[in-house]
Amino acid sequence: TTSLAGQRVLITAAAQGIGRATALAFANAGAEVIATDINDAGLAGLDGCRIARLDVLDAAAVTDFCAGLGPVDVLFNCAGVVHAGSILDMPDSDLDFAFDLNVRAMVRMIRAVLPGMIERGQGAIINMSSVASSVKGVPNRFAYSTTKAAVLGLTKSVAVDYVGVGIRCNAICPGTVQSPSLDQRLAATGDADAARAAFVARQPMGRIAQADEIAALAVYLAGATYTTGQAVCIDGGWTI
Ligand code: NAD
Repeated sequence: TTSLAGQRVLITAAAQGIGRATALAFANAGAEVIATDINDAGLAGLDGCRIARLDVLDAAAVTDFCAGLGPVDVLFNCAGVVHAGSILDMPDSDLDFAFDLNVRAMVRMIRAVLPGMIERGQGAIINMSSVASSVKGVPNRFAYSTTKAAVLGLTKSVAVDYVGVGIRCNAICPGTVQSPSLDQRLAATGDADAARAAFVARQPMGRIAQADEIAALAVYLAGATYTTGQAVCIDGGWTI
């Protein structure tokens, strides 16, 4: 495994799912982890991590929190929301909220930590996208895919603007990953078992990812010193 001893890693949405698995994976790799979320109870059990409440929708909170933090070597922007619906059955409020949480929150976080990274001439930013983005059309995911495609645009933009000063910026594009919110989405269909079977069937590997498989990719990208501006798919073969 990559050793990240001496690296400070800041993670959003670390209370459950991929964010939580990633916080534990970074801690295992020897990093100093600052795990943040709005769910204090979920953060509480994160052994080996420093935990803090941070609402990434709150611009002032993001600025204040990052200003008081000191140097950050790795930023993992994991916070995101999945809305169901096509363009005709999506309320505008879903699109506004998805842009705020899936895109603008990343802009806020990057603005807050990037100047410090530039000053020190090093930094790795990892943004959570999805194969449901510009990579692949996925049914019933209009607001989600629109905003996750924007994440790839912002990732490449930051990567190209700061490649010369030691900053790397990459995105992770998972297929379907086991998480508490996935269970909620399956339940919301009214037939969770059938919905799960359909989700499993669309991944050629015949299973849904475990969060720690995505976490391992985040740890890899933190130390991938020759990789920037990439959208790395991790999807059980969905996009083959
Ligand atoms: P999840 O959806 O189960 O948990 C999301 C976490 O985000 C929760 O802990 C929640 O408290 C936190 N959160 C919500 N609003 C927040 C805010 N304003 N500030 C800070 N934290 C906030 O976790 P997941 O399913 O692992 O998803 C994590 C990320 O991975 C998301 O960006 C999601 O779009 C992406 N993703 C998930 C899947 C999947 O199938 N699960 C696939 C591709 C991409």
